[in-house]
Amino acid sequence: MSEIITPQPAPINPVSRRKRLTGFYDLTVEELGDKLNELGAPAFRAKQLYNWGYEHFAAGYGDMKNIPASLQTTLAESLPFATMTLVDQKVTDNGDTYKLLYETFDGQVVETVLMLYPERATVCVSCQVGCAVGCAFCATGLGGLTRSLSAGEIVQQTVDAARLSRKVGRTLTNLVMMGMGEPLQNYAETMKFINIIHDPRGMNFGARRITVSTSGIVPRIDALAEEPLQLNLAVSLHAPNNELRGRLVPINARWPVQDLLAACDRYIAKTGRRISFEYALMNGINNSDEIADELGRLLRGRLCHVNVIPFNPVEVLDFERPTVQMIDRFAEIVSSHGVPTTVRYSRGVEIDAACGQLRARYEATRGKAGVPPVV
Ligand code: SF4
Repeated sequence: MSEIITPQPAPINPVSRRKRLTGFYDLTVEELGDKLNELGAPAFRAKQLYNWGYEHFAAGYGDMKNIPASLQTTLAESLPFATMTLVDQKVTDNGDTYKLLYETFDGQVVETVLMLYPERATVCVSCQVGCAVGCAFCATGLGGLTRSLSAGEIVQQTVDAARLSRKVGRTLTNLVMMGMGEPLQNYAETMKFINIIHDPRGMNFGARRITVSTSGIVPRIDALAEEPLQLNLAVSLHAPNNELRGRLVPINARWPVQDLLAACDRYIAKTGRRISFEYALMNGINNSDEIADELGRLLRGRLCHVNVIPFNPVEVLDFERPTVQMIDRFAEIVSSHGVPTTVRYSRGVEIDAACGQLRARYEATRGKAGVPPVV
């Protein structure tokens, strides 16, 4: 077995954690109505603005044809439409995966991935700049957490992906919160974001098409179970026992496997919804037959699904992807316990689509690259 360096909880960087820039995408319809009143405009315009923003995917106030020019100007001066700037955009040769890279108003770098499948189009959004969880195998967690994203910054990623999907003749159908950051450590903004895109007066994005992932923040799993929306929950397990999981996912020390699974059981009992367990498969680390067997025994009988995700090699981390035979064998052993198991390969390896990779590369060369076409 390869050696794993036991990760330490990642640092929380002091940069701009409290700074916020409120933009159009941060506001609910009601908040937008209040803002319009404050600007001396009628509140009924809020629904029109929402319609332009979330059904037509307008790129700015100037695109909103039935909004008076004077109000467009006032809004542009007092409520920025988009608070992040697209600074890089990459697409795979076969056109099935797009990676978008943004710079925020305070110079942070955020990444988003759009994946086009035959039957669905899925966006993977980021919810934080960096991450405090510090998983041993994750490029994002290496530098710790800089700051959480606002609801509007997450909404913007989603709307841009929906606009891009439409541009290539597709409809955005699914959303996963599996980019940079731990959504349940940014709970309030995560829920506000979900409520904005779910609002039937705007984007009307179905809750059942939204997946929130977590590394295992037990109290927030319980909180999520109380939410009225029928969201999907994905739990990053990566190991079936505390000894191994503690070396891969540092917060296992706070909420060990038994506590995590108890919270998952409460979630399933409360919502009746199946949980996905995500399992990043790393050669010589967590892919032996014994571990597969232990994982199958641990999860059997639960309303769940296991997604085995062969590790995407990262330059700065010393982990390897198992061979295809090893991957298939691992999945077969887990599923032999009656646990539905699927192998999911990461999309867009050639465009650095694995979590944190394009961002790391951009930050290393910031200012040297040209500005790409805007979505
Ligand atoms: S895998 Fe997820 S939770 Fe872990 S450090 Fe990376 S972004 Fe954070």
